[in-house]
Amino acid sequence: MRYISTRGSAPALGFDEVLLTGLAADGGLYVPERWPALSAGDLTEMRGLSYGELAAHILAPFVGEAIAGKDLAGLVEGAYAGFDHPEIAPLTEIGENEWLLELFHGPTLAFKDYAMQPLGRLFDNVLEARGKRLTIVGATSGDTGSAAIAALAGRKSIEVFILHPHDRVSEVQRRQMTTVDAANIHNIAIEGTFDDCQDLLKALFADAAFRKETRLSAVNSINWARIAGQIVYYVWAALRLGVQETGIAFAVPTGNFGNVYAGYAARQMGLPIRQLVVGSNRNDILTRFLETGIMEIREVEPSLSPSMDIQVSSNFERLLFDLLDRQGTPIAELMAEFKKSGRFALDSETLKRVRELFDGAKLDDEETKNAIAQIHSESGILLDPHSVVGIMAGRTRRRDKAIPMVAIGTAHPAKFPDAVEAASGVRPALPPHLADLFERTERFEVLANDLGQVRAYIAGRACAA
Ligand SMILES: *Cc1c(COP(=O)(O)O)cnc(C)c1O
Repeated sequence: MRYISTRGSAPALGFDEVLLTGLAADGGLYVPERWPALSAGDLTEMRGLSYGELAAHILAPFVGEAIAGKDLAGLVEGAYAGFDHPEIAPLTEIGENEWLLELFHGPTLAFKDYAMQPLGRLFDNVLEARGKRLTIVGATSGDTGSAAIAALAGRKSIEVFILHPHDRVSEVQRRQMTTVDAANIHNIAIEGTFDDCQDLLKALFADAAFRKETRLSAVNSINWARIAGQIVYYVWAALRLGVQETGIAFAVPTGNFGNVYAGYAARQMGLPIRQLVVGSNRNDILTRFLETGIMEIREVEPSLSPSMDIQVSSNFERLLFDLLDRQGTPIAELMAEFKKSGRFALDSETLKRVRELFDGAKLDDEETKNAIAQIHSESGILLDPHSVVGIMAGRTRRRDKAIPMVAIGTAHPAKFPDAVEAASGVRPALPPHLADLFERTERFEVLANDLGQVRAYIAGRACAA
């Protein structure tokens, strides 16, 4: 399998290179040259597979020759071994032909574990085969950092530096990062905001000499391997519900558009997905876009669902690439315009095609709290503020009750105990493997919001080229 850039002027690469590179050299995102096909026969044959076996099957055509099939199967099986539910991704009925896909049974209690766990192992395998080492630097407002740390702790070929805003992430989120005891994990608390962390990160990546010297790479959802790992649970849900005849719909709480784009990818491969509902909080750029065809950035405002406090949904560019007939030049032009003016518009014909599959709805904080309380009293299920945004968006925009609607549960309620307790009156408990989280020793370095200091700190501990 070869991968091409959405902006058309970076070289096509194989899976291993795309994995290590992340962003394409022309600023675009890598996508597969062709979508691998899942036939009706494949879908029937895959019904009996465990989650890990299914993941190896789905990933195989994307990985291609980069990793031998036998190695891939072992590596992926291992990735899900530590999850705390035997089904890995259980489905619970929460309404009439309405389901919750629980993706919070991994080590850090958010759906990001489902792709990050295999990703860490893929990195190690590819780096070891090449005798190379790598430095990963990331900025996080919460979930990505802890999922990356859990997936990369103790890996021989990788040094990991995660920047988080000092005193501005929840205590559960901070402790999930800072209590991991591994020599290759470095937590840096920046005296600033999440935006400051992200600016530092961008400046580090823009420094060509530093980038080369430390062999810098990233694990955010611009990395294709994250998307590939997320396609698995869409197929898994469809197989569990047996939807060959009826088709299936998904409702997805969305920030960077990585999760819902993986649903789109599953459909391109042949899964009978009839509808994808994009749920947003008050940062509703996607809801507005689906109404008007205009993508327009506004200020990011904090909400009860912080992992969706995003204005630029990077992975939307991958969808746009297909919509504009896989031509790089018009994408590069649109993205340049977007960067310059904070705005771009699609013509009505293209918008119509987007709307054939996608719908959007937003919930503000008040509606989010009410939704947590409502679902708790309806079904006794306690949910986090992200997952309920997806469920309620799905209920608002559902087109056909005969088609099963699967809402993606993206985080465990115990990750956001204050919001959940304020809404429902019940304080969610951490699962057993994290029950002693508040007694564990924390390790992190506090640094000023200063590029020179951060660069020196990382350079002194990073992998040498
Ligand atoms: C990351 C995250 C999201 C948003 O997912 P995207 O792929 O960025 O759209 C939603 N909910 C939770 C809990 C998350 O951690």
